[in-house]
Formats: sequence, structure tokens, C-alpha cells
Amino acid sequence: MKKVLVLEDEANIRSFIVINLQRYGYDPIEAETGEQALDRLREHPDIGVALLDVMLPGIDGFEVCRRIRASGAKTGIIMLTAKSQEMDKVTGLMTGADDYVTKPFSPSELIARIDALYRRLGNTLENTGGALISGPFRLNPSNRVFEKNGERVRLTQTEFAIMNLFMSNPGKALSRGDILSAIWGDDYAGELKIVDVNIRRLRLKIEDDPTNPAYITTIWGYGYKWGS
Ligand code: CA
Repeated sequence: MKKVLVLEDEANIRSFIVINLQRYGYDPIEAETGEQALDRLREHPDIGVALLDVMLPGIDGFEVCRRIRASGAKTGIIMLTAKSQEMDKVTGLMTGADDYVTKPFSPSELIARIDALYRRLGNTLENTGGALISGPFRLNPSNRVFEKNGERVRLTQTEFAIMNLFMSNPGKALSRGDILSAIWGDDYAGELKIVDVNIRRLRLKIEDDPTNPAYITTIWGYGYKWGS
């Protein structure tokens, strides 16, 4: 899964971002301070995009951005700024950042920016952002296209994220809880049934015979698996 660094000191905003990243199939790596963010980037060199809050205790987001660029890393950088009035400062100081999003932002706005940045970075991130291929299926995370036998199958963002999870873990038994926390986030308050509802819908879209599924197989009393 594509990793996104989330540097944000406010826990509630951070978890809001994390939940939405997971929902859209990204793998969020959290950091509370600038120093922590730089550590996380060293630990996970495959982080493709970093979201950097500007106002932080300790070194601020601009300084983190400057240090990432000074290290020569190709990481895509999106600054999270507090107010639109900060625009001048942002444009003046954002040398090195690829984009910025002004708070408060909607999840779909943020995800659209991340998707777009990942697309732009596509060529340099081929090893992490490349298409997943399994049997007749091809899933391309960078343009979010899912195909069966070369024909596009329209999936919701949630279904796409589930397929991404399955195809990234072929043959692995995934409990319904695993799927729920990977796609909806650990703080999701709803029921496990949402997993089954989505799987049922996915089977209708991707299986040759949805009543006798061959690709998304059921592990009774546990969960699901990609492949038999
Ligand atoms: Ca802040």
C-alpha cells in the first residue's frame, strides 16, 4: 500500500486524516513533531507523500520540508496550513513543497490532492505505486483503475481499497476485523457487517459466478482470503 506521512500535532486532526487515508487505501505513518517526522521518513524510505502541518511545537513544517529537500529525497510534500491569510507566507516559504491544503479541508479534497501528487510522482515511484496483477485482474493505484480481462470494472473507493488490500496480500487469511481496521480505521464505530456487505457487492462485480466465488473466498467464522 502507498505510504503517506501524516505530520500533525493535534491528535484529533491527525486521526481524522489517518482514518480517511486508510479508507481510500493509503497506509498512513503518523508523526506528532517535526523531529519524529524526519525519523519516520528515515525508517520508511518508501513514503511517497508527506503531509506537513505548518504550526508545530519544535521545528515547524517549513523547516521539515526544507530538511527533506536538503536530504535529496523525492518525497511529494503537501503543506497543511491553518488559515487562508497565511497564503503569502506559504507561497514565499513553500519552496520545495508540491502543494498545500488550507484547514479546514474535506477528506475528498485532501485525498484528491494526494492522488494527484502520487500520479505526478508515478514514474519515480514505480516500485511502490505500480499496478497489482492477479489472474485476470489488474489494479492500478496511481489512476485508481481496476480491470478484469482488460475491461474496466467500476468500483467505489471503499471497494477499490478492499481490492487493493486483497491483491497486496494474496493467499493471506484476513479476518473481518483486519479488513475493517485497514479500510475503515481502528476508530470506526460501526459493525463488522459493513465488511460483508462490501464483499457481497464486490463479488457481484468481479466474480464469474458470485454464488460460487473463486477469487474472494470465505474462511468460515473468520473472514476472507484472496484466492483459493
Ligand atoms: Ca498544528
